[in-house]
Amino acid sequence: MARRILLLGPPGAGKGTQAILICNTLHVPHISTGDMLRDAVASGTDLGQQVESVMAAGELVSDQLVVAMVDERLSASDARCGYLLDGFPRTVAQAEALNDLVVNAIGTVVLLEVESDEVVDRMARRASEEGRSDDKEETIRRRLDVYESETAPLVDFYGDAVLRVDGMGTVDEVFSRIMLGLAHA
Ligand code: AMP
Repeated sequence: MARRILLLGPPGAGKGTQAILICNTLHVPHISTGDMLRDAVASGTDLGQQVESVMAAGELVSDQLVVAMVDERLSASDARCGYLLDGFPRTVAQAEALNDLVVNAIGTVVLLEVESDEVVDRMARRASEEGRSDDKEETIRRRLDVYESETAPLVDFYGDAVLRVDGMGTVDEVFSRIMLGLAHA
């Protein structure tokens, strides 16, 4: 079964939730650039101060900053035998940079497909439950636009490596579909 997985899908598709379940099952590290950047903001590092307003606006952090962060993370020993990337790459330029960093960087790309009305509902719910500053209504629309223009082209970029998974339904249902798909990938 593939051990180098990329989880792709619009914001609110359930990537973070599914990533944790997949990583616990396959025993690979969960590498989430969104989590890493939120940690940097919360602890007030130089990086955190640089990216805070960009994230709050729903825009993408520069490729250069994110690629450097991922380069360092992938050099850690726990990433040697595999990983799950969640939220990276987010642009074709990042995907090309990843290919330069690691040979055969991605085995399977899991694309979580969710209807756009459901995505907006989920994000609005998360805004009230978790208080994420980028889940406010005006930012949600911007993040979806950024996904369509910057990240969706990765589906073509990865071509045959993409495993399309229906992201509608319960967490368990979606997780079962992902594991079934990965087993046959
Ligand atoms: P996420 O938790 O993956 O939805 O990411 C939250 C925010 O962090 C995004 O809206 C971006 O501002 C920033 N971010 C996360 N990953 C990346 C990335 N690979 N490239 C650029 N910005 C990112």
